[in-house]
Order: sequence, then structure tokens, then C-alpha cells
Amino acid sequence: MAFEGLADKLQNVFRKLTGKGKLSEADIKVAMREVKLALLEADVNFLVVKKFIKSVSEKAVGQTVLESLTPGQEVIRIVRDEMTQLLGGSLSDIKIASNPPTVILMAGLQGAGKTTMCGKLGKYFLKKGKTPMLVACDIYRPAAIQQLKVVGEQAGVPVFEMGQEKPYKIYQAALKEARKNGNDMLILDTAGRLHIDEEMMAELKRLRDEAQPTETLLVIDAMTGQDAVNAAKAFNEEVELTGVILTKVDGDTRGGAALSVREVTGKPIKFVGVGEKLTDIELFHPDRMTSRILG
Ligand code: GDP
Repeated sequence: MAFEGLADKLQNVFRKLTGKGKLSEADIKVAMREVKLALLEADVNFLVVKKFIKSVSEKAVGQTVLESLTPGQEVIRIVRDEMTQLLGGSLSDIKIASNPPTVILMAGLQGAGKTTMCGKLGKYFLKKGKTPMLVACDIYRPAAIQQLKVVGEQAGVPVFEMGQEKPYKIYQAALKEARKNGNDMLILDTAGRLHIDEEMMAELKRLRDEAQPTETLLVIDAMTGQDAVNAAKAFNEEVELTGVILTKVDGDTRGGAALSVREVTGKPIKFVGVGEKLTDIELFHPDRMTSRILG
């Protein structure tokens, strides 16, 4: 189960805090050291942990907490609030273009779950009354185009492809097709490499400049922890993301990516993938994620 180790450790710290009655500054210091260790072991970015602990500590040693009748509960409340803030505070929904079509550019490293997520989003928005079309701009792997077609068929969403044509040209043609058929949303699947490289970024930028997307979303695999966060940082510097989608949150992730990516990139997590089926997609609610971690 995702976040299991982190959840266990934090709940253990909390049990000790609430079992004590009155708390001293020293008690809080000990607890904060334990929270810090638990976060680092969960692969949360070091600078993010440092900032988080500083902020919680400052609030937790205040007079109102120490003199309250249930100081342990107060400290837990502070950790809960800070963690929700760290995850973005509140829900950040997908922006819909006032002048359709809404264009969603999907980026990410190979294997992150991008193609699957295109299908999930297509199905999600179809259910919401939109008429999405998936566009195959991953031109390097014929298998990728085929995979998008399969996913589109499962989702009941049309797929536009032009084989190995340049992605920005594929987009231009897809836009024409969308106008003709009344599709009000284009979801662009792009090429992902195992590592970020210049050619991939240049192609992505060319496509972005042409498409002027409403949303540029990076799909990252929650299981890959700090690597995912570093990739997010690099992509954001190159193509200016508007948000992040975390996949494989159903897996055995320690939590590092989920807890770091917002702070490191400044971009909100918009959706999470929670399984391989096309219905395994959820809007990202920071408070619910906090509850999942803190119990
Ligand atoms: P892409 O290379 O980024 O397009 O990745 P794919 O969409 O091909 O996905 C790679 C693998 O991850 C596939 O086997 C998917 O079934 C799987 N996958 C994608 N999203 C999820 C998810 O949310 N949970 C789980 N458990 N597997 C996922």
C-alpha cells in the first residue's frame, strides 16, 4: 500500500505526543526530529523537509499549543495543515479554454504512464460531456501510436494520427479535424525518452509553441521518488508546466514524489492515477492525501 511506511512512522510519533498530556518544548523537538527522519526515509526532498519542519516547529512551540489542554492534538493539527499546504492546499482543476478546443499537452518520461493517462483523461472528460480527441504525437515508436489507438478505443474517444509526421504538423491537422468534427478538447500524447534529452525538449517546445496549450501537464511515476521530482523540475524549466499528474499512486510508493513535487516546481498536482484501468483516475485533493498519510 502506498505511503504505508511513512504513515506508520508518523502515527507512531503522534501516539507518543497525545499520550503525554502536557508537552514541553523539548518534547516537541524530539517529535519533530522523528517526523523529519520519517519524511527523509520516505524520500521527500531534503530542502522540502527542512522547510516543513521549520514551519511546523515554529507554530508548535507557541504558547497556545503548550498551554492548551490537548497539546498533542494541537501539534497533530499543525502537521496536518502544513502537509495539506505542502500538497497544494486545495483542489486544482483542469482549466477549460473559453474558446474551444481546450488543448492538453501531455509530457513525461517513457513508462511514466502518459499514454494510459491520455485515455483516462479522455474517458473522464467524455463522461463530463466533453468531446475529446486524442492526438498521437509520439512519433518515434510505432507501438506508441498503436497503444494510443487501443486506449482511445477502450475509452470511446477518437484518436488522430499521421504516423511519423512532425508533431507540430500533426497538431495543425488535428486542430482542423477537431473543428470539422466539433471536438472541444485535444489531448496530445508526446514522445517520452528514458532520460530527458535536448532533441526531445526541442520537439516538445516546437509543439507547445504551435499548440499554445491550455494545460501543459507532466505525467510522473510516483514510484520513482526523487527522480520524478528532478524530471519535473527540468521539464518545468524548459516548457513551463501548468500542472503535474502522479501515476501509480496505487503502488508501493514511499511518498517522496507526492510530497515534494509541488514545493520543488511550484506547480499543482491535478490528477492521480491509481491503477491500470481507464477508470483508475482521481482528481487530486490535498486534504484527502494528507488523511491517507496521517490517518
Ligand atoms: P508511457 O510510456 O508514459 O506512455 O506509459 P504507459 O501509459 O505505457 O504506462 C506504462 C505502464 O504503467 C503500463 O503497464 C501501464 O499499465 C502502467 N500504469 C500506468 N498508469 C498506472 C497507474 O496509475 N497504476 C498502475 N499500477 N500502473 C499504471
